[in-house]
Amino acid sequence: DEPPQETEIRQLDEDTVARIAAGEVVERPASAVKELVENSLDADADSVDVTVEEGGTELIRVADDGRGMGEADVRAAVREHTTSKIDGLEDLESGVATLGFRGEALHTIGSVSRVTICSRPRGDAGAGTELVYEGGEVTGVEPTGCPEGTIVEVEDLFYNTPARRKFLKTTATEFAHVNRVVTRYALANPDVAVSLTHDGREVFATTGQGDLQAAVMAVYGREVASAMIPVEAEGDDLPPGPLESVSGLVSHPETNRSSPEYLATYVNGRAVTADAVREGIMGAYGAQLGGDRYPFVTLFLEVPGEAVDVNVHPRKREVRFDDDDSVRRQVDAAVESALLEHGLLRSRAPRG
Ligand code: ADP
Ligand code: MG
Repeated sequence: DEPPQETEIRQLDEDTVARIAAGEVVERPASAVKELVENSLDADADSVDVTVEEGGTELIRVADDGRGMGEADVRAAVREHTTSKIDGLEDLESGVATLGFRGEALHTIGSVSRVTICSRPRGDAGAGTELVYEGGEVTGVEPTGCPEGTIVEVEDLFYNTPARRKFLKTTATEFAHVNRVVTRYALANPDVAVSLTHDGREVFATTGQGDLQAAVMAVYGREVASAMIPVEAEGDDLPPGPLESVSGLVSHPETNRSSPEYLATYVNGRAVTADAVREGIMGAYGAQLGGDRYPFVTLFLEVPGEAVDVNVHPRKREVRFDDDDSVRRQVDAAVESALLEHGLLRSRAPRG
């Protein structure tokens, strides 16, 4: 063996590595909210209540009535790379049904904040477990009265990463991101009662008993809901391409906004964006929308797993299809025929 030589290259300590990794998973409060809501949905919750303070920078609380966790599970949940959702790569290749599977969210959120988990398994007669995890360490575990299900509180996000904290935007902007995340899950899960409260004010609450139309009403209000028409195209209704079906609700052209933020699109149940999908939607409305105006859209696309890669990186919201052109045409055709059927297009625009 060579004798050790002087070098400038050194190994970072674990704590530093963890905080760098955390910065990639948790960019802002909305990213933590996304992870926690996904965990609640994966736990089969019928209700998910999200409460945030100051845009989520001071407090994020996600309470669900899902499966819950016993003490051993709560302890395991915050460890690095711990998940109950997959066993190995084989499971990934056969397609994952759960929203999470990397087993890193709770661990990393807890390395840049103070996390308190209160959980009790469904139907368990015991009290429940409260675990406090801060700066990457478990600082307390005790039996505590918890409702069935799980409550996760995240306080003082980025308290130990001042640079990241400094880059947070205003409360209004951070809350807008949180709102968009929770809205997307509420629309995709009309059978789950999802609520969002900001600084003590309830922003919306879905009943969990309704269909998509009811969820749109709860989230966007009566006026928008009454301007929505159904899109329902599958198989031979669609031009050739990878999409098996396109369904959901789209607004009358005159019910529009100046931001694309209300285009909520899902591929195989995951909230994602794709240029081809957006272009297909906008193409269908064509000149019916003024420049830089966007409709309200909640659209679910089903595609065989091999035509799209959504699982590789769950944090990436942007997906690509093998065949973007066909996807664009399929979405365009599905939305256009819904608009035509409702007499909402003046004429069929020539397209090339
Ligand atoms: P992942 O979701 O990728 O598995 P997480 O760090 O988000 O990783 O969660 C780790 C584990 O903790 C999950 O696999 C799950 O078993 C458990 N868990 C997390 N949140 C909840 C919850 N709200 N209800 C029940 N179990 C949960
Ligand atoms: Mg998760």
